[in-house]
Amino acid sequence: MTTLGHLINGVRVADGRRTQDIFNPSTGEVGSQVSLASKATVEEAIAAAEAAFPAWRDTPPAKRARVMYRFKQLLEDNADEICRLIGQEHGKIVHDAKGELQRGIENVEYACGVPELLKGEHSKNVGPGIDSWSEFQPLGVVAGITPFNFPAMVPLWMYPMAIATGNTFVLKPSERDPSSTLYIAELALEAGLPAGVLNVVNGDKEAVDTLLDDSRVKAVSFVGSTPIAEYIYSRASANGKRCQALGGAKNHAIVMPDADMDNVVSSLTGAAFGSSGERCMALSVAVAVGDAAADALISKMQAQLQTLKVGPYHDGDNDFGPVITKAHMEKVCGYIAGAQEQGAEIVVDGRGVEVPGHENGFYVGGTLIDRVTPEMTCYLEEIFGPVLLVVRVDTMQEAMQLIDDHEYGNGTCIYTRDGEAARYFSDNIQVGMVGINVPLPVPVSYHSFGGWKRSLFGDLAAYGPDAVRFYTKRKTVTQRWPSAGVREGAQFSFPS
Ligand code: NAD
Repeated sequence: MTTLGHLINGVRVADGRRTQDIFNPSTGEVGSQVSLASKATVEEAIAAAEAAFPAWRDTPPAKRARVMYRFKQLLEDNADEICRLIGQEHGKIVHDAKGELQRGIENVEYACGVPELLKGEHSKNVGPGIDSWSEFQPLGVVAGITPFNFPAMVPLWMYPMAIATGNTFVLKPSERDPSSTLYIAELALEAGLPAGVLNVVNGDKEAVDTLLDDSRVKAVSFVGSTPIAEYIYSRASANGKRCQALGGAKNHAIVMPDADMDNVVSSLTGAAFGSSGERCMALSVAVAVGDAAADALISKMQAQLQTLKVGPYHDGDNDFGPVITKAHMEKVCGYIAGAQEQGAEIVVDGRGVEVPGHENGFYVGGTLIDRVTPEMTCYLEEIFGPVLLVVRVDTMQEAMQLIDDHEYGNGTCIYTRDGEAARYFSDNIQVGMVGINVPLPVPVSYHSFGGWKRSLFGDLAAYGPDAVRFYTKRKTVTQRWPSAGVREGAQFSFPS
């Protein structure tokens, strides 16, 4: 059986002290193993990144951008293999993996513009014969720690911009599906990154803690669940590092009585059940305003769910695949059981779904739960499975209050034909990414991605313009070249 190693200083290295199984969730079988890096292995990767930094920092931005152009081309040329690797270890259907990869490639495209993005700010004659400018310098070695659910896209939110702005990088991907991440990193090297500029260490808490504690690592980008995000943010910050830590979510859609219900049902279906609900922007709660809207939503959604196909990743006719692990499948089923016990109504139950020929896969069918109330565990916690909850309220104000009271604030949307209501919603709702008749308002690569409340710890969001600022530090230079022979006396008042 293959054991995946690490990518350090341009070469694959093994560290066979501890390993972990990697499953194919579509079959439930172990496909390979991943080596879990020791502290010493992670320190080797940090040392490689540190050694590569001076030359890479001094490489002109246009040359760094040229590597990104080649990288983008290699990603497109190898898309089929990348998506196969994603599907095999994550379980998402190939067409969904293609969408993920495309969103990742768009971040590489944005990084191709780095000479423009690093131009800085200049002011002439801030005083007599004095010019001043601000420039944006790289930080040094930066680290990224990423989740299982977007093994291609989320790392591409981070290192293309970090590297294009002149930093060197150590990436610690999810140990549950690292193959596509490693494959893509090798393409980045093939595109022309010098050895040591991008390093990948596979591993678990030991690897992560080493990155958080090592003083050579200047900044940490994290994406994953909220408890770990909070831990990463606290520990990295306590160690004096810049940190952005994106966490979990519970994304609500308000369904107003005037909404086009057929449109609502088709777009909610994709947003709730696509990728088995394992997206941080998945819409997991529909808040129906008025019983008429709720009844219409439930009956149409119930019918729609009968048409959904769940099955293995490689069959493009399937709408969604398995969840990531057996333990996660059991956890999702536990939330459904808990909802029932706490008094909600299970309208469509995805537990025990059968996928002929793949009986041991980690499947949960599309599940619809009505009459959910805010104190239920299924409402309070992130389920991260193909489960849509329906909460019934009487007014839009009540719906907005629910969203504002929830601990997460990643994404939300409203379905309505009333522009005034939509504008009031987007102006006032306490959530970072808002859709108006758009179910998954994931910002494009030239905006930035970030939730509010406990969905993001830190001040700067991921990718886009915020990433340029996150991966650089501002230096402001004030300069004067006095004419030869001109001498000034000492000035004791503050310069003005
Ligand atoms: P996770 O928090 O379990 O793992 C994320 C990373 O943290 C992995 O690399 C993992 O190895 C590491 N990690 C896990 N436990 C750790 C510990 N105790 N100490 C140090 N490191 C640890 O998340 P996951 O299950 O891989 O991903 C799903 C979660 O990620 C969901 O909550 C989802 O909402 C969230 N997510 C958020 C966004 C966003 O942009 N806000 C995007 C994608 C996923």
